[in-house]
Amino acid sequence: MSTVNDCLFCKIATGVIPADIIVENDHALAFRDIDPKAPTHVLVIPRSHFADVDELTERDPDLAGKLLALASEVAKLEALGTGYRIVTNIGEDAGQSVAHVHFHVLGGRSLTWPPG
Ligand code: AMP
Repeated sequence: MSTVNDCLFCKIATGVIPADIIVENDHALAFRDIDPKAPTHVLVIPRSHFADVDELTERDPDLAGKLLALASEVAKLEALGTGYRIVTNIGEDAGQSVAHVHFHVLGGRSLTWPPG
């Protein structure tokens, strides 16, 4: 696993910083967002460091698929059967605030479209 010293999500992945983890496996984990935007707001991250989806899909596309599979598993665990959203922000204009790729899994309420 490759980590970056000052990366918040690398520290969560290695247990240095605690998080409310709901499911994890050898290559990824899912934990509750500290500032939830919906009744269910979970972040799915790889244990290894990739800055964003562009870097992830270029360097390890198989892992990208595994992360989406874990996001689907989160939706099942959280009983989001009536609908949910998977979001990933890439770069400044999209509002990415943590430079370790993550998928937001949002649900538990009606979600509007388009996003802001
Ligand atoms: P983004 O803005 O797309 O990069 O998403 C980063 C997300 O990380 C935000 O929704 C934050 O609320 C969330 N976040 C920041 N710090 C933590 C933390 N220590 N534990 C859980 N979620 C966090």
